[in-house]
Amino acid sequence: MKDIVFKTAAELSRLLASGELSSLELTKACLERIRTHDPKIHAFLHVDADGALETAAQVDARRAAGEKMHPLAGIPVALKDNIVIQGMPTTCASKMLEGWESPYDATVVVKLKEAGLPIVGKTNMDEFAMGSSTENSAFGATLNPWNTERIPGGSGGGSAAAVAAYMVPLALGTDTGGSIRQPGACTGTVGAKPTYGAVSRYGAVAMASSLDQIGPVARTVEDAAMLQELLGGHDVYDSTSLPDPVPDLSAAVCTGAAEANSAKGLRVGIIKQLSGEGYQAGVLETFNATVQRLKDAGATVVEVDCPSFEYSLAAYYLIMPAEVSSNLARFDGVRYGLRVEPSEGPVTAETMMAATRGAGFGDEVKRRIILGTHVLSAGFFDAYYGSALKVRTLVLRDLAAAFEKVDVLVTPTAPTTAFKFGENADNLLAMYLNDVATLPANMAGIPAISIPVGLAPDDSMPVGFQILAPAKEDARMYKVAALVEAQVRAADLLPACPAKNWKDEA
Ligand code: GLN
Repeated sequence: MKDIVFKTAAELSRLLASGELSSLELTKACLERIRTHDPKIHAFLHVDADGALETAAQVDARRAAGEKMHPLAGIPVALKDNIVIQGMPTTCASKMLEGWESPYDATVVVKLKEAGLPIVGKTNMDEFAMGSSTENSAFGATLNPWNTERIPGGSGGGSAAAVAAYMVPLALGTDTGGSIRQPGACTGTVGAKPTYGAVSRYGAVAMASSLDQIGPVARTVEDAAMLQELLGGHDVYDSTSLPDPVPDLSAAVCTGAAEANSAKGLRVGIIKQLSGEGYQAGVLETFNATVQRLKDAGATVVEVDCPSFEYSLAAYYLIMPAEVSSNLARFDGVRYGLRVEPSEGPVTAETMMAATRGAGFGDEVKRRIILGTHVLSAGFFDAYYGSALKVRTLVLRDLAAAFEKVDVLVTPTAPTTAFKFGENADNLLAMYLNDVATLPANMAGIPAISIPVGLAPDDSMPVGFQILAPAKEDARMYKVAALVEAQVRAADLLPACPAKNWKDEA
């Protein structure tokens, strides 16, 4: 029964529906796996065994009583620790929120609860989702289950590592500049950023509101599609939520998988600016081999030019901190979490806030708040923030022009595979460069997914392949992702994560 943790959500769904497996057995197996192996990788900041087992027992009882259940009912899921849920802490991996509990559930959590998914706990992340390695967590980093000397990506390294290490089949992440997709690439998992507004952000602690998006983390494209279908839909509590009905992503996955050998008619664009200079040789080699398989199956592949992408990283690192500085102003020692009084001098509201923010935030968060405040200040607004917004418009135009010629765009998800701990810690630019291929999708609000397509020949670490589609064409993105995934499977290019062989007594 222990091996049940290696199954995908789709397989588990069938076993649960047929009665061959109970949610209680499955949830116990996941919790046992977390108990035995999470001390090695630290994917979780909080585990709620009792709550998860209670949900599992309820789902089993409802199913036994003949109730028609959601296909994912009974399948355990983990939440990135910046998504709020009643009855569990939400820390955003920050001292600022240590011990804080939300008085309400995020909309995605309401949906998970209604569908009957046991929520096993909260996963580690870079503080307030700022980072690409999970090294910025105030509670210690998460290790990559493929190689524990390497980072699991970030900011959602905990969710990605938990799924890669078979602790849960499904998890939720948030993606502001790549924090679902880049950890996906680093850990050989599937991570999708839906179209902006396709999944409610209500209850996701805001980092940069015009870029943030909640999305699924899974081991297969089919599982990610099922989870996104459940999470999606209009929400009156999120004014940026789309009114459109949720597309049939599972059907798109079936179509895509069936077309693995016949991609005729599919037009694929390679973004010139995102597949050459500055990329690790092994990443490019694996990327090019993936593109070659698409060509071999009959797809038309062309290179597209997105000249403004040269400036998009710089623009992102102006727009994002500007929004960060505004969103994180709410952590003032009055409303949430930590409160610190100054050690000397008078205690006023201002000195208390300064002491609280000084003690509660880590270096990266402070750096971004200061940068964001600066670029929004009266004398510099036009030069920095205003220019960045113009670049954002150009990125949108480049993408719109590209999608006139092709159905989807593809890139390596990140310029390198998972790097070693500390390797980029003192080199902020190198750290920020990790987002170069992922952040254009956030700037433009379009959907993007990362799927594993093999191991890089130069370091044997997983390589992520990113697929981008026009806004609201999430189904098209999933279809092509399933097609590429089927080709990877047919060629047997992706070995199981070494976590599969971890000894239980270890
Ligand atoms: N790594 C990016 C950053 O540090 C992305 C963060 C995110 O998507 N939450 O801003």
